[in-house]
Amino acid sequence: MLPQTVLTKKVVFASDWLEGCAGCHMSFLDMDERLVELVQMGLEITASPITDLKEPAPGTDLGVIEGAVATDHQLAVAKMFRERCKILVAIGDCAVFGGINTMRNWIPLPELLERGYITTESTVEGKIPQGPGIGKHLPRCMALNEVVKVDFYIPGCPPPADAIYRVLVDVLEGKTPVLDGELLKYE
Ligand code: SF4
Repeated sequence: MLPQTVLTKKVVFASDWLEGCAGCHMSFLDMDERLVELVQMGLEITASPITDLKEPAPGTDLGVIEGAVATDHQLAVAKMFRERCKILVAIGDCAVFGGINTMRNWIPLPELLERGYITTESTVEGKIPQGPGIGKHLPRCMALNEVVKVDFYIPGCPPPADAIYRVLVDVLEGKTPVLDGELLKYE
């Protein structure tokens, strides 16, 4: 069930992407004119990669995270969203179960970084990026629910815009989101 506090007309929304390709947010934008409809229904889009504000305010109703958790920075963002959002949704296969990013879990990290940044055939005088602004890799890349509690899942790579729309409408109407039929895909 949705927390009672969310059953208000306005739903304050925030989103972010972690270890992903931005495709899930592209699917979000694919709702096209229905985004206007959602805003008219009460969705207030605050922080997101597609707005100026990047961090959700405490007490945000609905947080949506794309991407897996692979670095200390991403872990901090996931925890901040969980702390500040009443409902947390994992969107896309990367957030739902780690997705393609978890292929790196079978390769020791130093070997992986060396291959990616130094010994790749197309690389000349490569070096592994590091510095205060660059997140440090965690030993494993993880699904969102391995690090924080997740309330709802929208699987798919990316999930269809129709599935995202259904979930947002359900939340705006105070219902527990349910995806079925064509809207529930793992591809
Ligand atoms: S689930 Fe697919 S579309 Fe979404 S971030 Fe991952 S790879 Fe990209």
